[in-house]
Amino acid sequence: MAVIAGNWKMHMTPRETEAFFAALDLTEVVAHNEFIIFPPVASLAVAAACGARDPRIQLGIQNMHWEEQGAFTGETSGQIAVEAGASFALIGHSERRHVFGETDAQVALKVVAARRDGLIPVICVGETLEERRAGRVDEVILRQLAAAVQALKGGEGRFLVAYEPVWAIGTGETATPEDAAAAHATLRAELESTLGIAAALRTPLLYGGSVNPANAADLLAAAEVDGVLVGGASLDAVSFTGIAAAGAG
Ligand code: PEP
Repeated sequence: MAVIAGNWKMHMTPRETEAFFAALDLTEVVAHNEFIIFPPVASLAVAAACGARDPRIQLGIQNMHWEEQGAFTGETSGQIAVEAGASFALIGHSERRHVFGETDAQVALKVVAARRDGLIPVICVGETLEERRAGRVDEVILRQLAAAVQALKGGEGRFLVAYEPVWAIGTGETATPEDAAAAHATLRAELESTLGIAAALRTPLLYGGSVNPANAADLLAAAEVDGVLVGGASLDAVSFTGIAAAGAG
């Protein structure tokens, strides 16, 4: 069973969202995968209405504020997201960290808030090319993971981790299955030492970074890779289904 997640970023209007779900046929692949789609907030309710035709498609929000409500113009609370149909929250995506300056401390606050509001956190970690070249992959992803996991300690409930090397996101470059496996092994070992073996084993570790129907099978076959988080290739129903077919193989 693989987790096939699609991050639509700032794409897909409500009308395009409707067209996507109209074209999506998961009949052949649904039994083998869990699906999560992260539409932009304004398309979430439409996605929920369309996705309701297939309850196996779950929805999430791409980012959230840690406060429950208040004077935070432009932000979205967990409760708003839940009422609009979300059950997952992407937290600490590299675009949030590197374009909007989100810090590890803010990621930790959002993880706590997601739990409080009944959303399942999908915690994103990943190194830049400079950090990879400097041999700092483990140091960076462990620091990012530690901040988020610290916030989860003592609490019950599901969460997922997505390893997304920044240099592979939206670039057409992918980590090799070996690189993905190595990073995932590091993350799994850290989860085991901080949260225990049971939590480490039941936490899905997703790979993200230019996944497409042609490379998905090799990445999904890599050790410790339990699923994929897909950006660009998740915007098209046929290519999203193609990736899911790789997960079902
Ligand atoms: C992402 O947005 O998380 C992502 C991995 O994007 P892409 O698949 O386009 O690289």
